[in-house]
Amino acid sequence: MSDLAQARAAHDHFRSLGLRLDMTRGKPSAAQLDLANAMLTMPGNGDTETEAGEDARNYGGIQGVAEVRRLFAPMMMAPPAQIAIAENSSLAIMHDCIVWALLKGVAGGEPWSRTEAPAFICPVPGYDRHFALCEEFGIRMLPVPLKGDGPDMDAVEALALDPSVKGMWCVPKYSNPTGETYSDAVIARLAAMPAGAPDFRLFWDNAYGVHHLTGNRTEIPDILTLCAEAGHADRAFVFASTSKITLAGAGIALFAGSEANIRWYLARAAKRTVGPDKLNQLRHLRFLRSPEGLAAHMDAHRRLLAPKFDAMLATLERHLGGQGIARWAAPAGGYFITVEMLKGSAARVVELAREAGIALTPAGATWPHGRDPHDSVLRLAPSFPPLEEVRQAAEGIALSMKLAALEAT
Ligand code: PMP
Repeated sequence: MSDLAQARAAHDHFRSLGLRLDMTRGKPSAAQLDLANAMLTMPGNGDTETEAGEDARNYGGIQGVAEVRRLFAPMMMAPPAQIAIAENSSLAIMHDCIVWALLKGVAGGEPWSRTEAPAFICPVPGYDRHFALCEEFGIRMLPVPLKGDGPDMDAVEALALDPSVKGMWCVPKYSNPTGETYSDAVIARLAAMPAGAPDFRLFWDNAYGVHHLTGNRTEIPDILTLCAEAGHADRAFVFASTSKITLAGAGIALFAGSEANIRWYLARAAKRTVGPDKLNQLRHLRFLRSPEGLAAHMDAHRRLLAPKFDAMLATLERHLGGQGIARWAAPAGGYFITVEMLKGSAARVVELAREAGIALTPAGATWPHGRDPHDSVLRLAPSFPPLEEVRQAAEGIALSMKLAALEAT
């Protein structure tokens, strides 16, 4: 039997098992959510006063409870005074920052909407919801390749000189979806590079700042300090949340920035709400207790997640290793594995996987407008299904990749 016929037979056999597996989105599993079950009864009847004596049940406290800001200061790499806590979604803060920038301008600038065709630099592959926000508000997207240690900085520096380039998406640690971490040199260049727009902003989405998959806790430089030292104190808007720390639908989202950016953010936020949910903030403090408690909790996530990534990677290696048909890197953190296939075969893999009962993120999703010009990138999200299902899905995905590659050659 030819290699192609063998691959087809293996795929047919898998398909005949009639499985139904979902590997589309980077959601925490039920077992991960269970880790935070104790939170569901916190802060508890009678435990509603903050250290400053505020009643957390009432309105107010627009910046967030001080002791909760202290808890997250190391994760945000910002002093508590330069942190604001919002509701349950960091994506919502990013949305608001874009809308406010367009309508009102960022601190010291005029509304971005007065610029003819404002644009964002978009490292690719990237997070589809970032790109969807740009699409929603008519912001042009300028793709720049990620190189394993962050974006191609020569390309970024050249684009940033254009005054219509107002911002850049960055997921600096364990990036969605490549898993890579920006190097110290890349981060220093992002902080220091000249920008054509005086109101240029890095949208620094550190969504996976504490989400390690190995015992080695990667650290990145503090972007706020680097920007300040380079004379661009207001350049970075920093975002994070506890969606993948505590409860994905009921976490808290955080914003950090320079003093001017915090003033700007709070002035807008105070029009939007009378105050965030301080009980949820207290619940997070009672449960996580300290930065050390937070780290220990993330270790428990790692113990659940790492075997799923290991299973996925081992299966890819077994079926595809050393054959030159697919490339991937083992992520040291985050929620995704990116596989780069031969050009023109990613959509076919998704189709073959679907026929085999496995739902994958659509090919192209990691590119602006959902169009991967090379049709080569696949995002695998092993977090949600139980380990046994991840093992099965990995098998079906690898068989689909192999068949698509052999069909194309
Ligand atoms: N940013 C990135 C890079 C993500 O992968 C995700 C999805 N977890 C989000 C933001 C969304 O975060 P949130 O739940 O805080 O809105």
